[in-house]
Amino acid sequence: ALTAYPVPPAGDGIKLDAMECPYALPDAVRDDVARALGETALNRYPPGDTGALAADVRQAFGIPAQAGLLFGNGSDELIHLIVQACCMPGDTVLAPWPSFVYFDMAARFDHARFVGVPLTPDLELDLPAMLQAISLHRPKVVFLALPNNPTGGLWPDAAVQAIVAAAPGLVVLDEAYQPFAGHTWMPRLGTLPNAVVLRTVSKIGLAGLRFGYLAGHPGWIAQFDKVRPPYNLNVLTQAALRAVLRHKPVLDEQAAALRAGRDTLAAALAALPGVRVFPSAGNFVLARFSGKPDGNAVHLALKTRKILVKNFSGAHPLLADCLRISVGTPAENQALLSALQDILSSTI
Ligand SMILES: *Cc1c(COP(=O)(O)O)cnc(C)c1O
Repeated sequence: ALTAYPVPPAGDGIKLDAMECPYALPDAVRDDVARALGETALNRYPPGDTGALAADVRQAFGIPAQAGLLFGNGSDELIHLIVQACCMPGDTVLAPWPSFVYFDMAARFDHARFVGVPLTPDLELDLPAMLQAISLHRPKVVFLALPNNPTGGLWPDAAVQAIVAAAPGLVVLDEAYQPFAGHTWMPRLGTLPNAVVLRTVSKIGLAGLRFGYLAGHPGWIAQFDKVRPPYNLNVLTQAALRAVLRHKPVLDEQAAALRAGRDTLAAALAALPGVRVFPSAGNFVLARFSGKPDGNAVHLALKTRKILVKNFSGAHPLLADCLRISVGTPAENQALLSALQDILSSTI
């Protein structure tokens, strides 16, 4: 009954469909990565002691000293491990919906029941509906993407706090887009005993590395570690990440450029006829094309022009005619806008 996670072929066009960072790493960083990879022992299994990597990650990403830390082959793997550790068949996993599809997929892999609580028509969190669903379904795990993918909204602190307080089990605060939001729960982890913070380096320029991390009370982390596959983090990923983190300001500068680009892009999109742009704290914007041509037609017309964005038209009724557009380089954003101007004005 499942469908495999879809990854469309990239081709040679402009790729704005997967929230990748459009910038390649500078040559000096790539040289350091190459040297680090050359020194790895590929004949050996990855070492059990990841202390040096953990120290670098804590330092680079501001993880509190008291928090436990678990690494994953992308944060997708950690999402799956959390469900595996927390749920018996038939238990409930709950999230506002639409949100990140892997929350639903991971629940189903482990025979848990997924409950998606609809967002409001404006794609905001429906807190009363969330609290009601939590009290009705008693979920073992609640996933909150902060900000939310694919809608872009960042749920208010007070609402998140109310959900954490009401949840009978674990609440996962998925901060995949944290560097673009300028907001985090990480320093407050100690005050939220039933919450953990999930992050990834995928959206800040390292999607190919496959590295995610989970921070939380050491008691939680020790349980998740029991279901972690041995050697889930390969030596090349570890070595490359440590080399890149020695140049952390490069990642920060790229994120700052994308944040600025997002605001420029959102304003330009909103100025197009028949386009509604939803507020975004990520490195993407969700836009609704409700005029003529509609969302499906715009998606297809962009594809014809070799510009790839993500079409959510058929994914959920709340996302009718919505396309999710990752922020690219200024030149890519401009190419997208020119194409859209052309597409939206050419049909009578
Ligand atoms: C992209 C994304 C992830 C997945 O990150 P990986 O580390 O690449 O597996 C997790 N959560 C959300 C909300 C995302 O949008």
